[in-house]
Amino acid sequence: MSAVSIHPSVDNGIKPGTDNFAGGTLQCHCAADKVEVKVDAQTAHNHACGCSKCWKPEGAVFSVVAVVPRDKVGVTAHEEKLKIVDDKAAIQRHACRGCGVHMYGRIENKDHPFYGLDFIHTELSPQTGWSAPGFAAFVSSIIETGTPPAKMDGIRARLREIGLEPYDCLSPALMDAISAHVAKAKGTLSV
Ligand SMILES: [Zn+2]
Ligand SMILES: [Zn+2]
Repeated sequence: MSAVSIHPSVDNGIKPGTDNFAGGTLQCHCAADKVEVKVDAQTAHNHACGCSKCWKPEGAVFSVVAVVPRDKVGVTAHEEKLKIVDDKAAIQRHACRGCGVHMYGRIENKDHPFYGLDFIHTELSPQTGWSAPGFAAFVSSIIETGTPPAKMDGIRARLREIGLEPYDCLSPALMDAISAHVAKAKGTLSV
């Protein structure tokens, strides 16, 4: 096993998602009275994220986070334990007060390019078959949470080795989607 740890769900190889997988539940880490969220869809754009805002398990350098349509996400148990981590952030992360796990992140600004999508961590699910992570985003940002810059070459090499192409913002497909949204709002793109 490599000495470079990215996240427990990818360090020993990435399991592919299952065709026709239609969703499942997410559970927080509390021993009792777990917050439970039901997700009635397969995830999209699953990726490792190096930003400082995403929830990550103890010891992990990256989070693993994916999106689903917000109308497919519902809290089914212990909603009273949820609080918004930062209500001024573009993505409002609804976290369990007990264990700190982020159950879902939601965008309330209708003009945001990703409005309509919720951000979830499928490692919180007892089900298997969720889409596999496909790239690594905001890789340079792990320096902000304490990774020495000298380690970055090794971390990017390890990400490539396990099949997660490293990007310092989002993937080209998502960056293009953001720019297209901006261009449509400005009237410079009509299609
Ligand atoms: Zn909890
Ligand atoms: Zn993130």
